[in-house]
Amino acid sequence: MKGLCILGATGSIGVSTLDVAARHSDLYKVVALTANNNIDLLFEQCLAHRPEVVVVVDEHKALAFAEKLQGSPIADIKVLSGAASLEQVATLDNVDSVMAAIVGAAGLLPSLAAAKAGKTILLANKEALVMSGDIFMQAVRESGAHLLPIDSEHNAIFQCMPAGYESGMHAKQARRILLTASGGPFRQMPVEQLPHVTPAQAVAHPNWDMGKKISVDSATMMNKGLEMIEACILFAMQPEQIQVVIHPQSVIHSMVDYVDGTVLAQMGNPDMRVPIAYSMAWPERFDSGVEPLNIFDVKRMDFEAPNLERFPCLRLAYQAIATGGTMPTILNAANEIAVDAFLNERIRFTDIPLIIERCMDSLTATPADNLEIILAADQQARTVSRQLITEL
Ligand code: NAD
Ligand code: MG
Repeated sequence: MKGLCILGATGSIGVSTLDVAARHSDLYKVVALTANNNIDLLFEQCLAHRPEVVVVVDEHKALAFAEKLQGSPIADIKVLSGAASLEQVATLDNVDSVMAAIVGAAGLLPSLAAAKAGKTILLANKEALVMSGDIFMQAVRESGAHLLPIDSEHNAIFQCMPAGYESGMHAKQARRILLTASGGPFRQMPVEQLPHVTPAQAVAHPNWDMGKKISVDSATMMNKGLEMIEACILFAMQPEQIQVVIHPQSVIHSMVDYVDGTVLAQMGNPDMRVPIAYSMAWPERFDSGVEPLNIFDVKRMDFEAPNLERFPCLRLAYQAIATGGTMPTILNAANEIAVDAFLNERIRFTDIPLIIERCMDSLTATPADNLEIILAADQQARTVSRQLITEL
């Protein structure tokens, strides 16, 4: 029986993880759940899954949650609050696996704490890895933790890599990674209409049902930019070895092209329970609850190269990793601020790459040697981006 902690239980990935965990209650015991402020959903999840402890980051909401528990059948659940409690539950002795599914930089410290504590980390929170790259991988190596990627593309790549990929043995054998992307909702929209798209249009993804921030990232293709950086870090690849491929049907979730000419692809219906179940069962497999892929329904599969003029965020991500050091952190922070401003209707969709590019131009990257430097770069980029938004 493995103890499971879900950071970001109330989000899209958190909900899918609990769905898979419930199918395998003989193998997984839910020990800890965390939420930022959605206490109604957290309460339902607690009734169904009976964790020992929960974190509600927002202190007022945590008090309200504790009141809600009183007199209920789950009054014995321990309630913690504050961001530091996330690290505490991610490193509990009876937690074996940590699903890192908080969105954005807020997930960095608890995910890194789980890595340092030698847990099995199911990593959905790509922003944490983009920010902390080498430090994160070093923590995993030093503690003997297992790092299993949840992002569907990286999970696909992981499945197409030989066992032992973590030791770098694949590096000589894999020529490149073909990182697939759906192209999002605006793949074919005339470029002159892009400044006028609304948040509601941007979050309506054609193939995947996800949180708001990653949905906007998919529409700008910053998601693929972050994933390209994530792939370089996870699989020790160079940026020029990662070819982004637009594949609108989202049936293939990525491919590895080997030196002998073999290309391995992983396919399946677009449902995050597939990579979640693979990572939870690894190195075995078990049922995810997802319908089998009906290959006859897949009438065709298209592939095209991305247009970097339509998707400047992808170009900026290649630029950030080429600069290195704290530049990926700066890219990520500027993107988080810009996406938030877009969702709150303070800037236009096409202002998102504009703000990120101006922020990157106005800051100088330094070596990302330690966490303090990374967190300071993150804060500075947020301040600069907020200022740039007022100057638009
Ligand atoms: P979401 O918005 O649906 O959920 C986010 C979760 O994080 C919620 O539980 C929320 O309470 C928590 N949270 C938000 N801000 C927080 C803060 N400041 N402190 C603590 N907790 C906070 O997001 P999601 O779609 O589930 O995505 C989560 C992560 O997984 C993201 O990094 C995303 O890029 C990645 N991911 C998601 C998908 C998907 O299909 N949804 C696919 C691949 C990768
Ligand atoms: Mg993905």
